Amino acid sequence: MSYVQEVLNQAIKRNPGEVEFHQALKEVLESLEPVFEKRPDLQEAGILERIVEPERQILFRVPWLDDQGKIQVNRGFRVEFNSAIGPYKGGLRFHPSVYLGIIKFLGFEQIFKNSLTGLPIGGGKGGSDFDPKGKSEGEIMRFCQSFMTELYRYLGADTDVPAGDIGVGGREVGYMFGQYKRITNKYEGVLTGKGLTFGGSLARTEATGYGLVYLMEEALKAVHKTFAGTTVVVSGSGNVAIYAVQKLNQLGAKVIAMSDSNGYIYDRDGIHLDTVRQLKEVDRKRIKDYVSHHPSAEYHEGCAGIWSIPCDVALPCATQNELDGQAAQLLIKNGCYAVGEGANMPSTPEAVDAFHENKVIFAPGKASNAGGVAVSALEMSQNSMRYSWTFEEVDAKLKGIMVNIYHTASKAAAEYGFEGNLVAGANIAGFLKVAEAMKAQGA
Ligand code: GLU
Repeated sequence: MSYVQEVLNQAIKRNPGEVEFHQALKEVLESLEPVFEKRPDLQEAGILERIVEPERQILFRVPWLDDQGKIQVNRGFRVEFNSAIGPYKGGLRFHPSVYLGIIKFLGFEQIFKNSLTGLPIGGGKGGSDFDPKGKSEGEIMRFCQSFMTELYRYLGADTDVPAGDIGVGGREVGYMFGQYKRITNKYEGVLTGKGLTFGGSLARTEATGYGLVYLMEEALKAVHKTFAGTTVVVSGSGNVAIYAVQKLNQLGAKVIAMSDSNGYIYDRDGIHLDTVRQLKEVDRKRIKDYVSHHPSAEYHEGCAGIWSIPCDVALPCATQNELDGQAAQLLIKNGCYAVGEGANMPSTPEAVDAFHENKVIFAPGKASNAGGVAVSALEMSQNSMRYSWTFEEVDAKLKGIMVNIYHTASKAAAEYGFEGNLVAGANIAGFLKVAEAMKAQGA
């Protein structure tokens, strides 16, 4: 058995039942085999054994008062995975499916994603099994305050800087920032994705979606294609999906389907993004309501069906494992030639294999959705400088970062015998920078 396989088996054994974490471990470690053939020094330094073990895992109780005056209890998490290249950085997810295995998979992926941005940020992730769906404004605020009342002691602008993820947007970041400031009496860039009136960065809201499209644009360029005139399916209707669609529209693509966790809409004339934004960002309603505004569009229950719609490019921007092997086969059969992940690990291993076997351009989330955390790092820079860049300045930096990630991953793939495989390229390039830093800093 190879050294890499041994470390993988041990890590799986040490984290029983955490299936999403196992999936991420397997996906990253398997592409590192050729690295260890070339670099025995990294094996000597025990980098792999160390990198699969989080530096710190924090689990805590989050009690909060609901509108009926009853005490509710949720569980809070923060996994500070790796700080070799900078302070822990990564979002907070509030969703009923959250447990340690989800936070660890996200935190592990975040190490390599953050490294790929070229910016000095380590990897971390956190969240809670709290379900924001159907909660009142007051309940959301009290929950966020209670969550931060425990978490604040582990955070700091130079220690650990959370942001949003599923279920955590500008509103929640605002409440958490307020509570942090109240408790610590410090006005510092301890969270990113803040409101623009209190230290947020222009273009942070747009960053993940725009970044995804910038990276895919570069990938298409390599095969002499552009987005103009293409038909695109985008799953999800949160922050990532909405701004991916906005950028696609600007580039002359037509997006014909979007979804939420209940079902998907299909509008052959092209999705009216203003309606989706009003429904999701302002009214906090379901995607189903889209058809009452545009009766010629169709609504279908269930999310997986979205991948049966013929398209040129598919951008899964909802959640992990939303696109399986069967969905991938359907996309390929219907002529889809490029897939870019806006969510974290939305494609199952079978789907990724199918894309590779059929020469579909495939960009993994840790490369293609890195724009969000990249602009978070730029928000940290601006906070440290006590200064703000214009939208155009941040957007230009974001584009440069995404183009660079694409070329870094392509180059690493070619160098290690995985020509055209961006999964392996992203893993290897992301890993090497962190590994060098860990080796230099000693065990
Ligand atoms: N949650 C986002 C991600 O998955 C953003 C993290 C951040 O901005 O820190 O990368």
